[in-house]
Amino acid sequence: MNVVATVSEDEAREIVDLLRQVQIPSQTEATTEETGLEVTGVLVDEAHFDQACDVIEQWAAARAAASGRPAKPRCPACGEEGLERADEVDCLKTITKIAAIYHCPNCGHVVATA
Ligand SMILES: [Zn+2]
Repeated sequence: MNVVATVSEDEAREIVDLLRQVQIPSQTEATTEETGLEVTGVLVDEAHFDQACDVIEQWAAARAAASGRPAKPRCPACGEEGLERADEVDCLKTITKIAAIYHCPNCGHVVATA
């Protein structure tokens, strides 16, 4: 089993439900981070890992949309809206610290979204 996401207990429950809907078996594991923060890891088997990442990516995007955050940021340097993705989405990054890294085609500024 591989950890596909490390989230809060409530979020883990949502993810497990979503994964169940697409017939991906998963399990959760409570862990305590070095910071003392209690988190829940969602684990899936290797064969379902990529598919689970897709599900979680969509879940994170839907949550971001629901919270009023734009799915795509603007370049803080020049205001360009047509930012290009500079990385493949890491499903852990998606829902933890960094959602995505964008590259501004206009001025070259690199933008990391939280
Ligand atoms: Zn720019």
